[in-house]
Amino acid sequence: MAENNRSASNDELGKNDESGKRESTDFIREIIREHNRSGRFGGRVHTRFPPEPNGYLHIGHAKSICLNYGIAAEFGGKFNLRMDDTNPEKEEQEYVDAIIDDVRWLGARWTGMRDDDPRAGVIWASDYFQQMYDWAVELIRKGLAFVCDLTAEQVREFRGTLTEPGRESPYRNRSVEENLDLFERMRRGEFPDGSRTLRAKIDMNSPNLNLRDPVMYRIVHATHHNTGDKWCIYPMYDWAHGLEDSIEGITHSICTLEFENHRPLYDWFIDAINQGRTDDGSGPWGKKIHHPQQIEFARLNLTYTVMSKRKLLELVKGGHVRGWDDPRMPTISGLRRRGVPPEAIRNFCATIGVAKVEGVVEIQLLEHHIREHLNRTAPRVMAVMKPLKVVIDNYPQGQVEYLDAVNNPEDPSAGTRQVPFSREIYIEEDDFREDPPKKYYRLSPGAEVRLRWGYLIRCVGVEKDPATGQVVQLHCTYDPATRGGNAPDGRKVKGTIHWVSAAHAVRAEARLYDHLFTKPDPDDVPPGGDFKDFLNPNSLQVVECLVEPSMLGAEAGTRVQFERVGYFSVDRDSTPQRPVFNRTVTLKDSWAKVEKALAAG
Ligand code: ATP
Ligand code: MG
Repeated sequence: MAENNRSASNDELGKNDESGKRESTDFIREIIREHNRSGRFGGRVHTRFPPEPNGYLHIGHAKSICLNYGIAAEFGGKFNLRMDDTNPEKEEQEYVDAIIDDVRWLGARWTGMRDDDPRAGVIWASDYFQQMYDWAVELIRKGLAFVCDLTAEQVREFRGTLTEPGRESPYRNRSVEENLDLFERMRRGEFPDGSRTLRAKIDMNSPNLNLRDPVMYRIVHATHHNTGDKWCIYPMYDWAHGLEDSIEGITHSICTLEFENHRPLYDWFIDAINQGRTDDGSGPWGKKIHHPQQIEFARLNLTYTVMSKRKLLELVKGGHVRGWDDPRMPTISGLRRRGVPPEAIRNFCATIGVAKVEGVVEIQLLEHHIREHLNRTAPRVMAVMKPLKVVIDNYPQGQVEYLDAVNNPEDPSAGTRQVPFSREIYIEEDDFREDPPKKYYRLSPGAEVRLRWGYLIRCVGVEKDPATGQVVQLHCTYDPATRGGNAPDGRKVKGTIHWVSAAHAVRAEARLYDHLFTKPDPDDVPPGGDFKDFLNPNSLQVVECLVEPSMLGAEAGTRVQFERVGYFSVDRDSTPQRPVFNRTVTLKDSWAKVEKALAAG
């Protein structure tokens, strides 16, 4: 595991369950502390999360949010939520709304955020289009940018390779006047898509390909979700991103490792604008603009899933999942719908920390944090997944009594509830064995078992289907002196099983999820293959189950533990008569095993 650079706490975002008192020590926080010591940004810390609204956020984005917001909170700084909406072709309103929702749900608080207006404080990169345009004109005037008529393919061709230098565009030496005129006309919409670009004049021999006269603007006649048809030229990421950061006064522009090679360009663009500018604004071009520090960290990769938005979109479009918020998706909305608490995601992110080397994190570690949080917070209820009917022969017909059940043994403040008990109940098929193996402490002919919160019962008869030989019903007797689960004579009964009263049980749908892919690294595809070849055909199993009546009408999003079965949450597909549950995680924590295996190398 490469991501072992632990960061301990980010208290604010945090209220992290695991946030210790020790100071975080990752390399990014070290850099920031160094800047604070040297006074580089006057002690200011201002971070941002800049998603492109071209898809839903996934858990990788959660890592970035936790990091950026966590740092701002820890250093008493600010945190911006900015839509990097510079590409009208792929961006949609639906994504904008989902992103805002997800960041809020995760618990980050951005500058200007308000609870009565979801969009309050959200920043739109597209609001800076005019300012970016003006700076581009300035670069043209300084002789640092030119309009190029090469096609996209030619630009690629002229660019050279890692081993071959590039060739200069024949349009590189256009006069400033001609460039100004053409750029203005590009903007006015005189030219078709792709016919011209604005490029920075840097160095076609640079060993860094990003510096070989990169494109700053391209022509795209497309309606933008925010600016409508006002613009038909759109800034490229490298040109736009640093300017967005600069305008907002971002101090530390934290991004993923693939941008390391872009950092010289990030700096070049800001330096180019600052050329001829001075601190007091006395120069010919006015006052210097703010120059943030870009810092790169390793993106999060998780086993048994894919994380690229392009691939996630493919799964949605292809109907391989039931939408972006399908509980099998690694999206924040999918995890939320599955029943994952935001605290678990934050704790997970705090545990993996940040590193400078890419690695893959085991999905079991995320599951471990989910269990860990739910164990402390999720009320227990009883639900039977594979029902087997039990008739308690000596229990009075028609009688119902209500038993006290503890909601959460881990949390006394969660209180108790009343569970109905009657003559006919259902237990789990697996909790009965006609021919029990050694150390089987559940129900078998003649054996006694404890009903959770109820009585001790003894199996006195087994009814079978004469045709198939399958057990269809059991007969038991109960010991009226054992209400609550203990025998007054002190006899030992090891096994405790869960149950529901047949007359009171609520029929429900349970959706049992497994990993979306059968392979730890579905991105690793053999030649001619496709990542979708590794989709797990059994990632969703829908079963009918019986739950105790307290779950009737439970609100969507309610998280519970079905005792001895797993953690579940109420899905929004539920109706008042019929709840639908998503299995969030099973009870079994396989993480310990994984950890052991990892330790063993
Ligand atoms: P994808 O590659 O999945 O399409 P992206 O990087 O294009 O993602 P953006 O919307 O540009 O998505 O990302 C917003 C921010 O989230 C960026 O700062 C990006 O570096 C960060 N980010 C994206 N994916 C991850 C990840 N897997 N781990 C950590 N941070 C990530
Ligand atoms: Mg991106």
